[in-house]
Amino acid sequence: MTRELYTARLERKECISEPSQCYHFEFVIDELESFPFSAGQFISAVAVDAHGKQQTRAYSLASAANGNRFDLCVNRVQGGFFSNHLADLPDVSLPVGGKIHVHGPHGHFVLREPVTDSILVATGTGVAPMRGFVQSLFPPENGPQAGPDRSQGKDIWLVYGTRHESELYYRDYFEALAARKPNFHYLATLSRAPESWSGLRGYVQDHVARIVEERAARLGLPLVQPEADPAVPAADLRFDTYAYICGLNNMVASVRERLAGYGWHRKQIVFERYD
Ligand SMILES: Cc1cc2nc3c(=O)[nH]c(=O)nc-3n(C[C@H](O)[C@H](O)[C@H](O)COP(=O)(O)OP(=O)(O)OC[C@H]3O[C@@H](n4cnc5c(N)ncnc54)[C@H](O)[C@@H]3O)c2cc1C
Repeated sequence: MTRELYTARLERKECISEPSQCYHFEFVIDELESFPFSAGQFISAVAVDAHGKQQTRAYSLASAANGNRFDLCVNRVQGGFFSNHLADLPDVSLPVGGKIHVHGPHGHFVLREPVTDSILVATGTGVAPMRGFVQSLFPPENGPQAGPDRSQGKDIWLVYGTRHESELYYRDYFEALAARKPNFHYLATLSRAPESWSGLRGYVQDHVARIVEERAARLGLPLVQPEADPAVPAADLRFDTYAYICGLNNMVASVRERLAGYGWHRKQIVFERYD
């Protein structure tokens, strides 16, 4: 299958964490008027390495659809080709700005309709698609991307785990939103917190479990969900709450296992693995 390859021009690059060498990128596809995608999808980026070999890597779109623009959030992987190629792209401040070739959008890691209570779970750069989800549910109130709140008052939790505080990417954005939107809950947890850290500690799956337990108690629901009616085809099942998990496989597996322990149906657990 031939895939249309677009040239994406780097408009802005910012190192958002020096210690973990994580970068926020803003790209424009000049040849397109609009680049439609669903929040949570990814693009495939294509470049030729030092040996003349074409390399392709997937990167989650770190923004909601916005004309012909998209954002990425990528950290350098030691010895890796593409993450370093991106991190080293020349900034727009230089005469010739950086460009990459991309195809897409791809993937099924998207919010299920209609919007339900949702637990978004991420570690590291797995926060990229979560930023897209959150932007699409809670567009800004002013400015060119302003739009109506699409969360329909549902509770949206973002459980974000990293080792160190310096790796909490987009923290200011999520904290400011949580302060403004009572149904958006930002739970940042550190697995290697120093004593001075007054926030949450430990692994994401423990905080996800707490949310599930508190929600069941508050709504008077059984903690372990009853099994879905086997007569209903899986595609037709609808749930009042979903989990969306993104990051490395170990974390994704741990959260899935924990939710399965509460009787969650596999269709209720939507995930994207980076490795
Ligand atoms: C659907 C999807 C979406 C993705 N979205 C993002 C994203 O938004 N941001 C992002 O930073 N990455 C994302 N990734 C990971 C990305 O595609 C690359 O795997 C990553 O950037 C490393 O590529 P590289 O060419 O630098 O390293 P490579 O040359 O491919 O690998 C070098 C070495 O590093 C190891 N390695 C590969 N990936 C990782 C990793 N993530 N952490 C630690 N070690 C690793 C490899 O096993 C290998 O030994 C996504 C992956 C998938 C499948």
